[in-house]
Amino acid sequence: MSQQHTTHALPSYLNPDDVGPWGIYLEQVERVTPYLGHLAKWVETLKRPKRVLVVDVPVELDDGTIAHFEGYRVQHNVSRGPGKGGVRYHQDVTLSEVMALAAWMSVKAAAVDLPFGGAKGGIRIDPRNYSTAELERITRRYTSEIGIIIGPHKDIPAPDVNTNAQTMAWMMDTYSMNNGTTATGVVTGKPISLGGSLGRVEATGRGVYVVGCAAARDNGLDIEGARVCVQGFGNVGGTAARLFYEAGAKVIAVQDHTGTIHNANGLDVLRLLKHVEETGGVAGAPESEPLKADEFWGLETDILIPAALEGQINVKNADQIRARIIIEGANGPTTPEADDILTSKGTLIVPDVLANAGGVTVSYFEWVQDFSSFFWTEDEINERLERMMHRAYASVAGVAAQHKVSLRTAAFIAACSRILQAREVRGLYP
Ligand code: GLU
Repeated sequence: MSQQHTTHALPSYLNPDDVGPWGIYLEQVERVTPYLGHLAKWVETLKRPKRVLVVDVPVELDDGTIAHFEGYRVQHNVSRGPGKGGVRYHQDVTLSEVMALAAWMSVKAAAVDLPFGGAKGGIRIDPRNYSTAELERITRRYTSEIGIIIGPHKDIPAPDVNTNAQTMAWMMDTYSMNNGTTATGVVTGKPISLGGSLGRVEATGRGVYVVGCAAARDNGLDIEGARVCVQGFGNVGGTAARLFYEAGAKVIAVQDHTGTIHNANGLDVLRLLKHVEETGGVAGAPESEPLKADEFWGLETDILIPAALEGQINVKNADQIRARIIIEGANGPTTPEADDILTSKGTLIVPDVLANAGGVTVSYFEWVQDFSSFFWTEDEINERLERMMHRAYASVAGVAAQHKVSLRTAAFIAACSRILQAREVRGLYP
């Protein structure tokens, strides 16, 4: 007689009292399960990562002492293709966070219909406290440690918070040296001279802009003159702010780790970018007044772009928010409780797995170009990126209208269905 063995336990390596960002992701999967039809049979697959690797990263510092860092690489799901996702250097990185980020990569890749699974990596380190030479040694040792599970056909890292093209060059070189090859396709977001793609640096911010414009148009909002507030002014927030500014929007407030600045008539974003390049942050920018950090969330605005870290929009500030459209440039910036509060107020949220998918989309182009050793022009990249983002937005908006659900639930329905279809048709081994 057959017996039902359904397991709903958390993986034992997570602390049940502090599930962290993984708990947010699990809640999102719960919400989408009723819409998965017969594929719900496989949903447990999404609730546990396929592979979790925790590594010790020992390194000799410039002063001769030895330091140890904790590093991670998580492959959440590889049903539709090799793992894909960035590597983050941050003092608050935890296993739970890397697991959630890996899972969001699975959903993101499937939402845009890229032939990738989801993965993510990180090192628990504040990179501001280390020299370039130390960061190079840390990156190389970390790459060697995770070298047993990454590879151009297995799992392809990319930049994320506090990592960049130089980090990817070190990773590519280390992997290549260890394997006696020149494996340009092992990472994306590389320097152009190493097989990087034109347009990759801007891609995430450009995707935020493209999808944001589509959502604005669908909701009768003209970008010309629209007020925009941006949290995080790095690669994603800075680029998105510039593109909205160039399209005639008024960027009225920006917040980063150095402070919050405001100008009701609109900031000069090009000058602001220069100021940030020179001083390292937005604080003290010309023609702006400083605001207290929590005043940022209460500003009346048409578009709000959280482009920093997870959990920034939560029960503490969701009530205050007076934005018509939120475009999630960061991964996981809105907690499920805040999501409910905002949705019931009528705020439209364009979810991370769609809004910030421009980065991994151009990573996909980079990976394809590396394999064919044939490189496209920047115009070709941007045009293909726009086409893919528009298509993904239209299909998610279609699912949202069909089931009368939020764009986030719709993106999860489309993505989880694709992942679980692949899971089902591949079948269980053995
Ligand atoms: N780190 C980026 C993200 O969160 C890009 C990942 C990639 O290109 O693989 O989407």
